[in-house]
Amino acid sequence: MPFNLSLAEREASGLRRRLPAIDRVTGRQLFSAGKCYLNFAGNDYLGLSQAPELINAAAAAAREFGVGAVASPLVVGHQSIHRQLESELADWLGLEAVLLFSSGFSANQALIKALLTKEHLLWQDKLNHASLQEAGMLSPARQLRFTHNDMAQLAAKLKPQSGLIVSEGVFSMDGDQGDWHGLTTLAEQSGNWLMIDDAHGLGVLGQQGRGTLSEQGIAADKVHITMGTFGKALGVSGAFIGGSRALIDYLHNHARSYVYSTHLPPPQAAAILAAVRVVQTADDKREQLQQRINQFRQGAALLPFTLLPSNTAIQPLLVGEKLGDEQSTMQIAARLRELGCWVGAIRPPTVPKGSARLRITLSAAHSKADITALLTALQQAIN
Ligand SMILES: *Cc1c(COP(=O)(O)O)cnc(C)c1O
Repeated sequence: MPFNLSLAEREASGLRRRLPAIDRVTGRQLFSAGKCYLNFAGNDYLGLSQAPELINAAAAAAREFGVGAVASPLVVGHQSIHRQLESELADWLGLEAVLLFSSGFSANQALIKALLTKEHLLWQDKLNHASLQEAGMLSPARQLRFTHNDMAQLAAKLKPQSGLIVSEGVFSMDGDQGDWHGLTTLAEQSGNWLMIDDAHGLGVLGQQGRGTLSEQGIAADKVHITMGTFGKALGVSGAFIGGSRALIDYLHNHARSYVYSTHLPPPQAAAILAAVRVVQTADDKREQLQQRINQFRQGAALLPFTLLPSNTAIQPLLVGEKLGDEQSTMQIAARLRELGCWVGAIRPPTVPKGSARLRITLSAAHSKADITALLTALQQAIN
């Protein structure tokens, strides 16, 4: 079997991945092997995974509905709690209709598979998430990738009325935003469809946390397909696709991981619904997150890492030549762990060669002192 060989190769090149033994994790902390760490590796940007409103909603729904959806949505799984969630989600984001998925990964796969044929072209930003890149490779459509946020290059590759452009609100490894003025203009001029994956923008950016389009002052209907996830700022898990009623009706019939998969458990739908309500009035949490981001960037600018131009909760630090390479990225991350800070270390092939980085994510759940502790640990880790 080929898998033995592949594992051995990864082991030899130091790229084998293993599950860390985590006992429990929150937006702020992480418990592993009897020790407590500050967590700078999660996506719980507003700390909602521990919010009493969400916990109570999930518990109440478990008592009312039970813990499982019993069936796939089109059979009998789609219940009043799911309808309520869809309706409030659509109202919040100004979408005509939405469809719920168990994960963002499956939503992206299902959408691209359902929508595109071999007659179509699919244009993707090179830094799009693995779920989108993989969906593109599995799709019969011809995939054309463009350099990150390079609108001139995209314009040169576009053909009129022949497919779908996909980009992200906030890029998951760099923390910067897509150029949505450029993207909407090009989509409109060329008559192509446009999709946003706003996994990391939803809840944290824009008015009432509506996401990247709102942040950039772009109306929701300038984009044909909106995809968002509930596992990041909303603190739960799951995803949705939103768009016109006709698109959603089509997906009810053709999105295979929707049609052939057990629906979201009612306690999960109830927790997401509570998150949708909380997030709309969470300006205090968004403001607190922004303060932590500013504090981190001011402190990190004095360290010998390369800070990327990100104003979001994702704050990667490129380790670069001066401090070493991929191996020293791993060593610095290990040292940070000894100092009580858990950060992600990202190497090629997840990111381009020569751009190994510490992927630091911040949360409104972090205190000012937590950020100070991280900056101190970063300083110590490279000495
Ligand atoms: C996390 C993420 C996904 C996948 O969402 P899950 O619900 O975790 O499967 C898709 N796209 C982007 C940009 C993401 O960051």
